[in-house]
Amino acid sequence: MRIGQGIDSHAFADGRPLMLGGVAIPYARGLAGHSDADALLHAIIDALLGAAALGDIGGMFPSSDPQWANADSRDLLRKAYERVRAAGHRLTSLDATVVAQEPKLAPHIGAMREAVAALLNVDLGVVSIKATTSDGLGFTGRGEGIAALVVVLLE
Ligand code: MG
Repeated sequence: MRIGQGIDSHAFADGRPLMLGGVAIPYARGLAGHSDADALLHAIIDALLGAAALGDIGGMFPSSDPQWANADSRDLLRKAYERVRAAGHRLTSLDATVVAQEPKLAPHIGAMREAVAALLNVDLGVVSIKATTSDGLGFTGRGEGIAALVVVLLE
């Protein structure tokens, strides 16, 4: 068994869709980034690559490479997990926490879990996604952005 952790954060920006966990979430602002800035999927990618000792998202999809500009993070996750599978590993547990003061994410947790499980072709029970606020503290508390933390177990 191998354990991996991933963390990512992105700032809010006007005029962009809010993508989180592969799901478009209705909100006045989205997240700024080179790709679609899906902080949850990015943290999952880093956790998977980390568990397999295959580097990180920046190494696999360099932001200096125009090929990944405005990338759909769902494609990045699929590619990263293909690499992990090719190295002989299989995801057996994923636990994620998204830190956001707003929007309220509870109504979207089910859709995010289903999207992530489908992208990784694993049972829904493998994927746990939780949401919390930081009680008004820090950049998430001030509503400046969203952070995501992920732990995975590979067998
Ligand atoms: Mg990111």
